[in-house]
Amino acid sequence: MSAGSQMLFLLCALLLVAAPLAPAQNVPKLSCGTCKGTGLLPCPGKEHDPKKMCGMTTPHHCDVVYRAPCCAGTMKIPCERCKDANAFATLEAEKSFRHQWVETQSAFGKDCAIQFVNVETDHFLVRWSIPRWRVGNETMGRNKASHVFIKRCEEVATKFEKITGILPAQKQSLYFTDSGEENMKVTLVKMGGGRRSTFRFYGMAGQVVQWPDPIGGMDSDDGYHAHTVHNTGHLLVQSAIAFQMKLAPWLDEGMAHWLEREQFGKQRTYCFQEVQAKDSWMDADWKKKMYGEVFGRDEDNFASVSMRDLDRLTYRDRAHGWSFVDYLIKNEPEKFKTFFSVMKRKNDTKAALDEAYGISMAVFHENWRAWVLKNYVTK
Ligand SMILES: [Zn+2]
Ligand SMILES: [Zn+2]
Ligand SMILES: [Zn+2]
Ligand SMILES: [Zn+2]
Repeated sequence: MSAGSQMLFLLCALLLVAAPLAPAQNVPKLSCGTCKGTGLLPCPGKEHDPKKMCGMTTPHHCDVVYRAPCCAGTMKIPCERCKDANAFATLEAEKSFRHQWVETQSAFGKDCAIQFVNVETDHFLVRWSIPRWRVGNETMGRNKASHVFIKRCEEVATKFEKITGILPAQKQSLYFTDSGEENMKVTLVKMGGGRRSTFRFYGMAGQVVQWPDPIGGMDSDDGYHAHTVHNTGHLLVQSAIAFQMKLAPWLDEGMAHWLEREQFGKQRTYCFQEVQAKDSWMDADWKKKMYGEVFGRDEDNFASVSMRDLDRLTYRDRAHGWSFVDYLIKNEPEKFKTFFSVMKRKNDTKAALDEAYGISMAVFHENWRAWVLKNYVTK
């Protein structure tokens, strides 16, 4: 054996011996007993607890907690005994991020001269100015109510992801104003158009402004919740995958109605560009009514409803749109994901039917008819 190879062997042996000892070098220096070496202590303040302040414990940003003078909601203060510079710098960085967030978000309300509470989660940004809101037996201020509603938006997102397999890459914003006047202010200052009623701005990062108008029955928690689900549905439909300037209205409205009806058992939100006269379809039990249409062969044809523009969609057309969506989602849930994705990329109903199901519009219509007769029949 040459000297060279022996040397190599020795080195390997040394490394092997040394390896298990390596962690010994990472043993921390004598740690501070007060903070157990973390450099931080629990904040003794009382204004930082999300459970009490906003009623939401899942990670999120909100100015209620971030404004806490004790610790900006970090729930930590530096340990004065060991004065750990690293821990202190990390804490300061987090606090300054939070102060910056509050600053940025409150600028929106200042621009509009409206007092908003701001909350941000994974998929939504909510601004809320309604001073008092009743949920069940509890009357809430801005802080709690805004969190209740952003949680409701996240619930819609969860449902949406389940049916489409996807969520928008960007955050969607919902502004809950207190009155028609405030609605007007926000739309004027931030969206370039004065509207006293619900107003949506579509894009990859969509926005909705709404207020609890008693005329629409939205001054009740149930009614306003339903309206919010419908609008959140529109935001998600419009901003997922790709933005289409004029996404097929039967699908857009159909999905928003579907999400609202699945949760509340009825449809209450109608998105019309102009005031529409009421008709018998408006408050009807759509399941029952669609069954009657199909049973009597009075239903409208899928090919023609699917071509209609938004301003030409009647209440009855919307019921058809909802039922087409209902069928697509419930009959073959996995294929609906493909269908939705093609619609969002091409906005072409014919192409999407072909790619996802390999069928024509005429075949779709017949399959849907048969499904309605089977599934909407009342015992
Ligand atoms: Zn310490
Ligand atoms: Zn919060
Ligand atoms: Zn604190
Ligand atoms: Zn709608």
